[in-house]
Amino acid sequence: MFLKGKTALVTGSTSGIGLACARALAAEGAAVMINGFGNAAAIETERAALAEVSGAGALYSAADVSRPDEIAAMVDACARELGPVDILVNNAGIQHVSPVEDFPPAKWDQIIAINLSSAFHTIHAALPGMKAKGWGRIVNTASAHSLVASPFKSAYVAAKHGIAGLTKTVALETAPFGVTVNCISPGYVWTPLVEAQIPDTMAARGLTREQVINDVLLASQPTKRFVTVEQVAALLLHLCRDDGASITGANLSMDGGWTAM
Ligand code: NAD
Repeated sequence: MFLKGKTALVTGSTSGIGLACARALAAEGAAVMINGFGNAAAIETERAALAEVSGAGALYSAADVSRPDEIAAMVDACARELGPVDILVNNAGIQHVSPVEDFPPAKWDQIIAINLSSAFHTIHAALPGMKAKGWGRIVNTASAHSLVASPFKSAYVAAKHGIAGLTKTVALETAPFGVTVNCISPGYVWTPLVEAQIPDTMAARGLTREQVINDVLLASQPTKRFVTVEQVAALLLHLCRDDGASITGANLSMDGGWTAM
């Protein structure tokens, strides 16, 4: 349990990659604040399980990370009730698939707010505490779409390229203070986010469900396998170890070879 005594905040952790990250951090003894939307009873069950596993407490914040005021309140509540954030995982994200000329402007704004600006606001609120302690880990869930584009995902690709730039900038600013900042860039991971975009991709491209899975999603991944949420969480843990202390400002691909093409 190498994270005993540390506090982690994982945005968008009621599901998918974020939930796996929260579970991995708790299993190493970190106190964990989870965040995101979903069924209240299911979230409470998960929170209680995290608290039991970590032995250090787990709390849930319902903050909507598209709202800077709610982010500030979440980071404050974490510091007050669990301890100042030592490990910040910016993971909340949504997708919308549409040709750019039909892309609803409100959806563009929402994706930029959730997938990009939220990471600025959490870092803005949590970094002073990390610098004061001389130790911190910031890990942003980016995407292969932080490095390459796909059609019909203008807002998502723009936000993820933005996350990659934010990661590099903050890494340079925090390097002298024992704080590392990295992003993990998965290819397609089988989560509700991927499942949900299948119908829109079927409509946008006129394909069947099987064609979307095999010819669109896994077409880009030479391994022809989805990345697993546990693989992403394992890399997060490595970044949190002392062995990870020299990895900063990196965009770490985990995409089955996608961006090697
Ligand atoms: P998911 O839909 O399973 O989880 C998304 C989480 O974000 C949920 O907990 C949801 O409640 C939360 N969330 C959404 N809007 C929010 C808001 N306004 N405020 C607070 N929380 C909010 O998706 P996932 O696939 O686990 O995606 C997690 C991250 O990984 C995203 O940033 C996504 O872009 C990225 N990613 C996913 C894949 C993939 O293939 N699944 C690939 C690369 C990157």
